[in-house]
Amino acid sequence: MRIARLLGFAVILSLVFDPAQGQATDSSQGNLHARSLLVDAHNDVLASALMRGRKLEDDLRGKAHTDLDRLQQGGVNVQVFSVWCGEKFTHEGGFREANRQIDVLEETIRRNSGRMALVTDASGLMRAVKQGKLAAVIGVEGGHMIEERLDYLDSLHARGARYLTLTWNNSISWASSAQDEVLRPRSLRTRGLSDFGKRVIARMNELGMLVDLSHTGDSTFWDAMAIAKRPVILSHSSAYALCAHYRNLKDEQIKAVARNGGVICVNFYSAYIDPSYNGKVKALLTRYPSEADSLRSTLSSDYAIGIRLLQMHPGEAEALRAPLSLLIDHIDYIARLAGVDHVGLGSDFDGVNSLPRGLDDVSDFPKITRALKERGYSDEEVKKILGENFLRVFRANTAGPLPAAGQP
Ligand SMILES: [Zn+2]
Repeated sequence: MRIARLLGFAVILSLVFDPAQGQATDSSQGNLHARSLLVDAHNDVLASALMRGRKLEDDLRGKAHTDLDRLQQGGVNVQVFSVWCGEKFTHEGGFREANRQIDVLEETIRRNSGRMALVTDASGLMRAVKQGKLAAVIGVEGGHMIEERLDYLDSLHARGARYLTLTWNNSISWASSAQDEVLRPRSLRTRGLSDFGKRVIARMNELGMLVDLSHTGDSTFWDAMAIAKRPVILSHSSAYALCAHYRNLKDEQIKAVARNGGVICVNFYSAYIDPSYNGKVKALLTRYPSEADSLRSTLSSDYAIGIRLLQMHPGEAEALRAPLSLLIDHIDYIARLAGVDHVGLGSDFDGVNSLPRGLDDVSDFPKITRALKERGYSDEEVKKILGENFLRVFRANTAGPLPAAGQP
């Protein structure tokens, strides 16, 4: 199988990759971190801060989890910038909004061309990293942004987008989301992929655009896996067995991604890694009953009220952060179930309001390296998790045309 052959790539990579990136420290883990290719498969700073006029080259401490200096401090070599817009764009305007966001990312890269570069394939990625630049990848989060048009998909690919998350939380006419399949199943017009949805996957496989199955419902996931001709990605999802949230992957899904040669990039959000988090957020309503009552007129769910209460009480928010060990548990679980070749990192920085203790922003990635070493992972295994697995999947998708039908 073509996919099985690709698995050997990580071995070759580890022999040739020596970026001398990041800030070396005198500890061996620090050196390991600096020697490793670090890829974060999902960051929302573009939509949440840069679209509001913030500049990535500015010091955004206190305003965002991400800026260029802190990415460098964290040893991040490759950042996937998520192009995202919400459900108000479900039916129209999504394509224009996606293009506006890509415009802003392009301007950001132009202003900082000595420090970052847009990359669209694995060789360009490696070139940027060897030059000491941040390799920027565009990921489009939500199939609504192609507005049911394959020519729009082609256009986003031509502008450099290299993954499409089939759905965000909002289902679309051709694919159902995890949130809707679980919370609003009766609202669905299509469960799983429609015929058009299957054509989207086929076109993405032809173009060499990674199929991202984070946020998709189980039905969509299995429909996509049945026809995917290249390795898939889960850009920011964790393990359901450890935290039973609809955004996470069940064991059979994790094993299926391994058989496909894909990679699951673990999400850092406290609500997706700590099974007690949502209950603790809702418990705030009984601790602050009068504030909760006054919020009820504007917020519909107890969970939304709880999140608002967390913003009003920073001490509570700090106490509710998941321990970093839980994030490592998710990585460890997927590595044990599927193999260490199928797990990576998809932080969701600047897209979530609670991160594990110690992971305050993008400068804290070295703490993950340290924690993985403390769990007993070898240097080679840590390097796979930090970025080589993503690179393998990225290369398998972007390296060239699909083999002709009939070839192995
Ligand atoms: Zn997301």
